[in-house]
Amino acid sequence: MAYEFSDTPELKKLREKVRSFAVAEIEPKAKGLDEREEYSAEITRASGKQGLLGMIIPKEYGGQGLDYLSYIVAVEELARVDSSQAAIVAAHNSLGINPIYYYGTEEQKQRLLPSLCTGDGLWAFALTEPESGSDAQATKTKAVFDDRRKEWIINGRKLWITNSACELSAGITVQAVTGTLSDGRNQLTSFLVPASTPGLIRKPVLGKMMWRAVSIGELFFEDVRIPEDAILGSKGRGFRITLETLDNGRLSIGAMGLGLAKGVFDLALEYSKKRKTFGVAIAKHQVIAFKLADMAMRIEAAENLLYKACWLRQNEKPFGKQAAMAKLYCTEVAEFCAREGQQCFGGYGLMKDYAVERHFRDVALLRVGEGTNEIQRLIISRHLGC
Ligand SMILES: Cc1cc2nc3c(=O)[nH]c(=O)nc-3n(C[C@H](O)[C@H](O)[C@H](O)COP(=O)(O)OP(=O)(O)OC[C@H]3O[C@@H](n4cnc5c(N)ncnc54)[C@H](O)[C@@H]3O)c2cc1C
Repeated sequence: MAYEFSDTPELKKLREKVRSFAVAEIEPKAKGLDEREEYSAEITRASGKQGLLGMIIPKEYGGQGLDYLSYIVAVEELARVDSSQAAIVAAHNSLGINPIYYYGTEEQKQRLLPSLCTGDGLWAFALTEPESGSDAQATKTKAVFDDRRKEWIINGRKLWITNSACELSAGITVQAVTGTLSDGRNQLTSFLVPASTPGLIRKPVLGKMMWRAVSIGELFFEDVRIPEDAILGSKGRGFRITLETLDNGRLSIGAMGLGLAKGVFDLALEYSKKRKTFGVAIAKHQVIAFKLADMAMRIEAAENLLYKACWLRQNEKPFGKQAAMAKLYCTEVAEFCAREGQQCFGGYGLMKDYAVERHFRDVALLRVGEGTNEIQRLIISRHLGC
């Protein structure tokens, strides 16, 4: 689907469908789930029914067979209403099942993808550890091959893994060290590990400031045995799979930023036209009007950058630099809009009864996930030859 500075009829239809779903099924529950820090399997199943959990996976494997821009627009529309549900969908697609589709064997795809596209299960991606986040090469989790039983044995620990510790968690792609490269760095390999594998302990991480309706897990691998053919891709390809997966994932975090920015902007604009001070709507005070103008301008620029990065990706052109730029810029625009939007609400913006308060907290993760914004600047500067 080409993007020509306006939504095609198909994209417009999809945008409206996802927006209606988010407003009808997510918005009424978002505040309560956030307050209780509660994951909702019911919303995940409903998202599956809407076709949101296997968006770019071809129909032969149970997915929707859509292009990347369609997927990005769907994440954006979810984030406009609620970051938690957008995060569940984005992590499942970008980090969970898309890598299985890109790098999996035919047998792995046929066995795993159909039920993961319907909302019957979520798949996670585990890279981060207590002592390695930005520096993925510092991974300590190890996989050793047991030649006698033809099985891999995994030992180690992973931290903050999205979609990994709830009732619908079906499995995890785990990055583990399988050797040492000639230059002394760790050789990483990706493994497909079902959530029910003996020796894998999954503990929910609670007390989150943001994404409070998302299941985030801490994972302990204690002699976890998996079959020889549980490797995703091939032995030693884990670091490449990780880098490529994160390039794609950055587009969906960018979409979460753009959606959140648009959601806050809509709320702030509506409120500013109604709230009166000194006898006029606050939107008539130039300071507030200019805040809204700055938000609108940055949203426009963020949208163009993100959609261009998607266009490059789906036209099979290099997109790593633009993906990093889109993640960085869209999330910084989201932070700007969350702060300025909240300010338009005055004291009410600090109250939990107003969705802008939740958006203000949720935006914080966007600076950190899928490579921090400092790391995005590092990636962009490397593309520039610095
Ligand atoms: C809610 C949540 C969900 C998550 N989901 C997942 C998931 O599904 N899967 C997964 O694998 N991980 C996940 N993560 C982990 C996330 O990707 C990491 O937190 C992130 O990559 C940063 O790693 P860190 O927290 O260890 O920070 P660190 O790497 O310790 O960085 C600390 C600070 O130093 C800066 N820094 C580090 N190195 C450099 C450098 N070279 N130059 C400049 N600045 C630098 C960072 O930008 C940051 O500001 C999640 C995290 C959270 C909070």
